[in-house]
Amino acid sequence: MDKLIIDARLNEYTFREPNPNVPYSPNEIARDAEACVAAGASIVHYHAREPETGAPSSDTGLYAATARAIRDRCDAIVMPTLGANTVTDLDARIGHVESMAADAATRADMVPLDLASLSLGMWQKGMDEVRGDDLVYYNPIGTLKALAARARAVGALPMAAIWNVGSLRLLEAFCETGVLPNTIFAELFTTEGGLISGHPGTPAGLQALIDFVPARVDCVWAAACYGANALGLAEQAIEQGGHVAIGLGDHPYLELGGDPPTNARVVEAVVEIARRHGREIATPAETRARLAAR
Ligand code: ZN
Repeated sequence: MDKLIIDARLNEYTFREPNPNVPYSPNEIARDAEACVAAGASIVHYHAREPETGAPSSDTGLYAATARAIRDRCDAIVMPTLGANTVTDLDARIGHVESMAADAATRADMVPLDLASLSLGMWQKGMDEVRGDDLVYYNPIGTLKALAARARAVGALPMAAIWNVGSLRLLEAFCETGVLPNTIFAELFTTEGGLISGHPGTPAGLQALIDFVPARVDCVWAAACYGANALGLAEQAIEQGGHVAIGLGDHPYLELGGDPPTNARVVEAVVEIARRHGREIATPAETRARLAAR
C-alpha cells in the first residue's frame, strides 16, 4: 500500500466559534501548516481570510503571503483554493494562482478543481424550507477545461474534488482526453451539517464513491467530509489503501476532548489510526514523488 498522504484542510470559510484555533492570517496559517507537517501532513490547503475578522478574501497578496510564510517554515505541498465556485469569471477564479506563480516562493503546488456543478441546498431535519435559492457551484465542462489548462500552465497540479459518482466519470473522461494528468490526487467529498449536495458522510456514502474510482486512472484518492467528524471515514479509507483530507476547516473536532484541538491534533488523530493499521505516513517529498508534483 502507498504511504498515507494527509491533506490538512486548515480553514475553509469556517469561523472561530466553536473552535478558536481556526487560522486566518498568513502567519497563523503558516504556523498551523508547520505543525501539521510535523504531525504527518504532506499537503496543506488554505483559503485566504481577512486576518482580523476571518472574512473570506480573494486578495492575491494574502494568498501569496501565506504561501511564502508556509515555505519559510516547512516543506509542504501548498494548495490554496481557487476563487469561489459560485463566481463565474475565470480570471476571478484562477488569477491569483497565476500571479503567485511569478515567484517560486509563492507559487501554488496544487489547486482544487470541483468536478461538478451543484445546487447548494442547505437543509436539516426540522427546517421548514430548503435554503440556498440562488447558490450554484458553477463548474461547466468548458470552465473546468480552462481552469485545468491555466493551472497546469503555471505548474500547479489539479486536485480533483469529487462530489458524486458523476464526478468520477468526468475524472476518467478528463484523464483519458488529457485535460487532467493520469496520475491525480482526488478528494472524495461527503457533506454533512445541512449541506445536502454531496454523498452523506457515512460509510455507505463514502464507499459508493470509492467503488466508482475509475480503474484506468492512477487515482490517489482521499476521504473527506465537510460538516462532520471524518475520522471514521479516514479509517475506512486507510483500510482500503486510500488517503485522508481533514481539518478544522471542515469540522471543529471537539470530540477529541480537552481544549479545542488544533489542526495538528486532528492530523495526529489520523496518524494514530494509520499506526493501528500498520500504514506508514508519506512525507511531503514522498507525496510529491507519488503525484509527480514539483
Ligand atoms: Zn477549500
